[in-house]
Amino acid sequence: CYNIHLCRVAQSDYFYLINMQANKIRNVAIIAHVDHGKTTLVDQLLQQGGAYRENQAYEERAMDSMDLEKEKGITIKAKNTSVTWQGNIINIVDTPGHADFGAEVERVMKMVDGVLLLVDAYDGPQAQTRFVLKKAFMQGLQPIVVINKVDREHAEPLAVKEKVLELFLDLDANESQFNAPFLYASAKNGWAVDSLNSEKKDMGTLFKAIMDTIPPPLVEEDDFRMLISNIDWDNFVGRVAVGRVLSGSVKVGETLYLIKQSGDTIPVKITRVFQYTGLNTQDSATAIAGNIIGLAGFKEVDIGETVVKRIDQIALPFIAIDPPTIQMEFCVNDGPLGGRDGERVTSRQIRERLLREKKSNISIGVQDTANGSRFLVSARGAMQIAVLVETMRREGYEVLVSRPTVIYQERDGVKEEPYETLWIETPNDVVGGIMENLCNRKGQLTNMEPHSNGESTFIEARIPTRGLIGFESDLVNMTSGHGVMSHLFDAYGSLAGEIKTRSTGTLVSMDQGLARPYALNLLQERGRLMVAPNEEVYEGMIVGECPRKQDLPVNPTKEKQLTNVRASGSDKNVQLAPPLSFSLERAIEYIASDEYVEATPNFLRMRKKILNFDTRRKLEKKGK
Ligand code: GDP
Repeated sequence: CYNIHLCRVAQSDYFYLINMQANKIRNVAIIAHVDHGKTTLVDQLLQQGGAYRENQAYEERAMDSMDLEKEKGITIKAKNTSVTWQGNIINIVDTPGHADFGAEVERVMKMVDGVLLLVDAYDGPQAQTRFVLKKAFMQGLQPIVVINKVDREHAEPLAVKEKVLELFLDLDANESQFNAPFLYASAKNGWAVDSLNSEKKDMGTLFKAIMDTIPPPLVEEDDFRMLISNIDWDNFVGRVAVGRVLSGSVKVGETLYLIKQSGDTIPVKITRVFQYTGLNTQDSATAIAGNIIGLAGFKEVDIGETVVKRIDQIALPFIAIDPPTIQMEFCVNDGPLGGRDGERVTSRQIRERLLREKKSNISIGVQDTANGSRFLVSARGAMQIAVLVETMRREGYEVLVSRPTVIYQERDGVKEEPYETLWIETPNDVVGGIMENLCNRKGQLTNMEPHSNGESTFIEARIPTRGLIGFESDLVNMTSGHGVMSHLFDAYGSLAGEIKTRSTGTLVSMDQGLARPYALNLLQERGRLMVAPNEEVYEGMIVGECPRKQDLPVNPTKEKQLTNVRASGSDKNVQLAPPLSFSLERAIEYIASDEYVEATPNFLRMRKKILNFDTRRKLEKKGK
């Protein structure tokens, strides 16, 4: 209705109207620890706000997390959604919660004018959300705190409120942030209130708090201009440029200009305008200033570029995308057990899957190699690639993956490596151990501060990306899961020198067959085993850890000679220690550069890149 009016009003009233429209828009990021109820809350907002048509059946929930996200306790794929309330549009932007996605969080914070911090009334604020909240505060964003699940038995909403305020103090909240509204909610039961004694009937209080507390988006008086903050993927139209419209409006069919980072301007005919309503992106005929939208029609488009209406408009300040800093090999599973477990095992299938990932995930790069069954995948962190491998396993793929290596650069003939800024929050009693670990990884301490709770410490360090590989597992182990970290690419710099990696060797099987209790019993004296009795093993497969830094060929398939009656102990009496088991991430970080992780839907194995013992030894000799 505004657009019809727009044609009729005089130019001077035009900006007034644009502002009126923007006044009805709120852009907020939601920050929540997995399981604190984000999906349930957003669903309630959608239902009560009227985004769901009456009796519309909905199977999929708007911000539902993948299984993998639940397991890892992080949001991997940030999703956008938009709810309407009394004629207003509230865009809710999800924030990724893992250390590898620091840059994405920063971009999200640039699109919004406030944040919703959702906290479980029993668990309280969790450290993982802290880094995201800190970025929001640094951006000057206004928070609203929703303490959810107050219906839960043993919920302590008031104690949790105190904890959140403490966290705000720690993060240097400004006065207005510190005075954020606190709401108490039961997303499950569909209500939110501003005091625990108030009548609990619906989400009205939360809608109102968003409208009253969070400022409307700033818009400018100009033709259409939008900075691209993210890239989405749509199966029909391909790349979708997502951003907040800074000025003007756009309709499907209009021609706009894309200003590349190089300064080149490319005309684009807009084929679709997406608005993020409810469960899915919806086609919307026009997009207005202040709203967060998606545009399609580009052949090529990237984060940080500006879309404008007139060719003489200037680009908005470029947002840098972190370069990929690590790389891993993905290969066809050519081992003797290859193809037994998965359905998708050929190089063509793997290649297609990787290219598909690259299209929708701008921080991933895929490169073919001379060897058609081997690909190089680059990303921002080992975790990011581990997530991809895990997703592929669940889709029925089999792949071999190598240890991540960092991507070096050359400047003026000098080789340089990437460095990151690392933030850690850890319980006080392990600070010494962590400092030592960082030191071994060539990390340099840049700041250290006590937490106001007196129990933990913040550490900030500059560390080569190479040194970061495997650090998260160490941190989790050293702190029994209480330590959290975040990292952000800093810059390329001179080589840091040797970083000590694994100090142990491996026990490598020389034979194929089933691992026998008898053999395993003998082997466990030489190192820690990684296989259980009756597990299938093959030549070149790693079946244990050798305490010395050398690879020991062993035969786990050997059975007791039947004639050997003197040995009284039968297999039944063998006492085997439980085998070492690794998560995918841990396995990827654990393997040496001449080893692979074999990832199939149901199995994770580690193996030598070259399976045959003699070939390996010959090559080793040649290498020396
Ligand atoms: P997300 O991971 O943050 O998206 O969390 P979900 O919305 O999936 O919720 C996690 C679990 O908490 C689910 O089992 C929900 O039913 C439950 N839950 C969500 N909100 C509430 C609430 O207000 N009260 C109670 N008791 N449980 C809730």
